[in-house]
Amino acid sequence: MTDIAHAIIELEKELPSNVKLVAVSKFHPAEAVMEAYRAGQRVFGESRPQELAAKAACLPDDIIWHFIGHLQTNKLKLVLPVASMVESVDSLHLLSAIEKWGNENGRTVDVLLEMHIASESTKQGFSGDEILSVAENAAAFGHVRIRGLMGMATYTDDEFIIRKDFAKLVALRDEIRENKDSYPGLPEDFGILSFGMTHDFRIAVEMGADIVRIGTLIFGERTY
Ligand SMILES: *Cc1c(COP(=O)(O)O)cnc(C)c1O
Repeated sequence: MTDIAHAIIELEKELPSNVKLVAVSKFHPAEAVMEAYRAGQRVFGESRPQELAAKAACLPDDIIWHFIGHLQTNKLKLVLPVASMVESVDSLHLLSAIEKWGNENGRTVDVLLEMHIASESTKQGFSGDEILSVAENAAAFGHVRIRGLMGMATYTDDEFIIRKDFAKLVALRDEIRENKDSYPGLPEDFGILSFGMTHDFRIAVEMGADIVRIGTLIFGERTY
């Protein structure tokens, strides 16, 4: 068995059955994706439009692609035809462009809103207040289904900080759910939370993540 297959099987054993594993294959070749695929993995995450489009074109049709990187609106046409979900919607500008694409192409696009929860200012995402305001206006986006929230914690070994970051996502999701009437444009099943990566996914699972996005642990170090 390959290291990649082994990592997938071990993760499937470890993760609770209600937690979805997104295998983050960015910067790794299609052959690496196939090794994970043969071990049973079907959901993969990519962060660069060109790379996603190239892999989707040559890999099996039953792969479910999640886009997880910063997305520029001029790259939508590479991503939206193949991605089942854009987890990283980080601006109103992007959301509006996805809506326009959906309208023109007769599609409804599943998205998560990315919330800035880390202390690093370099990371992308909406503030909590911005997310509430987008959620209030969700009905204006008839070709987008806002399914939940995504976030990346501060890159640190300090578990206290990681928990504090993740807690912001959980609290905002709960607040929106508890005040459903204020957000009539959100889908009935709003509430998916995507958080947790290689170095913090165990904390994420413990704190109620629905999706974890794991790359390095499965595919090894990326060479940028
Ligand atoms: C790269 C990336 C991951 C995976 O990170 P690892 O530390 O390799 O597990 C998860 N989420 C996002 C948004 C990423 O860009």
